This record gives sequence, structure tokens and C-alpha cells, in this order.
Amino acid sequence: MPKIRTSRTKPPPEGFEEIESVLEDYARKMRDAENESHEGKRKTESLWPIMRVSHTRSRYIYELYYKREAISKQLYEWLIKQGYADANLIAKWKKPGYEKLCCVRCIQSKDMNYQGSTCICRVPKAQVKAGTVVECVHCGCRGCSSDS
Ligand SMILES: [Zn+2]
Ligand SMILES: [Zn+2]
Repeated sequence: MPKIRTSRTKPPPEGFEEIESVLEDYARKMRDAENESHEGKRKTESLWPIMRVSHTRSRYIYELYYKREAISKQLYEWLIKQGYADANLIAKWKKPGYEKLCCVRCIQSKDMNYQGSTCICRVPKAQVKAGTVVECVHCGCRGCSSDS
């Protein structure tokens, strides 16, 4: 199916064709996650697969630009603008201790589900009491502290 582009949409920057198939793959996974049955799941739980896809997609773009230096700044910024990656999350990954952060909600001061301070998934494994289930309510994260 040909892509419909309005006259206002500029063509993507150079280099996009090289990653287009990967991005299409993510789009497919995203659709699958959205169409997944919500039956028998807790309300927030049905969002987890969607968050997981958007997280891996942001990660992919982050690594392309910052780690592998495989794409231009122009393309990177375009991808953010188009919603292919979460700029807020990427900004956090650049900070020490947050390299593996699952989602920005887990470090926001409200909505916390662990000791009223940080989400349980941010607590280093060594500090979590044995037998405690690490599973964040926002995204289903099982621990994303850089120390664990
Ligand atoms: Zn987490
Ligand atoms: Zn999270």
C-alpha cells in the first residue's frame, strides 16, 4: 500500500530508509499489543505490552544515535518529533543511575507504590527484601536499577 503524504509533510531526512523496516516492525508489534485481549487482566496490566514496545523502540533509536552513532542528528530529531522515541525517557538514560530506566512515570514523585519515594523497580535488587515481588504497576517493570 502506498504511503499517503500530505503536501505539508516533508520527506524524512537521509538515512531513514535504512531503519524504516525496523520501525515498521515496531509498528506491527505495537498494533498487536494494542489489539491484545484485555480479558482477565488488571487495568494497568493491559498497557504493559504497549509500554514495552514503545520502550524498546525508544531504546533502539537512542542506541542508534548515542551509542552506535549510526544516524544523523537531523534524523534523530525528526524521529523524536514523529513520535518514534520518547525524548523525556532518553534524557533520563543519559544520567548516571538511570541508564536502564523503564519509564518516566516510575521516577515521578506522585503515584509511587514503594515506600512513598521511588517505584519498587528502581530499588537495587540487593536492597529489596527477599520474597518481595518486584513488579511496577505502571509498566510491569521487574527492576531497572543500574546497580542490579
Ligand atoms: Zn522500572
Ligand atoms: Zn516503569
